[in-house]
Amino acid sequence: MAVQQNRVTRSRRNMRRAHDALVAANPNECTNCGELKRPHHVCPSCGHYNDREIVAQASDVDLDDDAA
Ligand SMILES: [Zn+2]
Repeated sequence: MAVQQNRVTRSRRNMRRAHDALVAANPNECTNCGELKRPHHVCPSCGHYNDREIVAQASDVDLDDDAA
């Protein structure tokens, strides 16, 4: 087992942890539905990206057409 050679001081430990802070998300409003979405990602609520529908939502698909 590896054993550390030197004690890490409070100062050095805290200097290392100075870069560990989480960065807050920066959501944009979807231009189609107005819901908050991650930038450069397809909107999870309506499936649109750049005003085009990319992912069809389950409620919009009529499954009976395929079954007939
Ligand atoms: Zn949307």
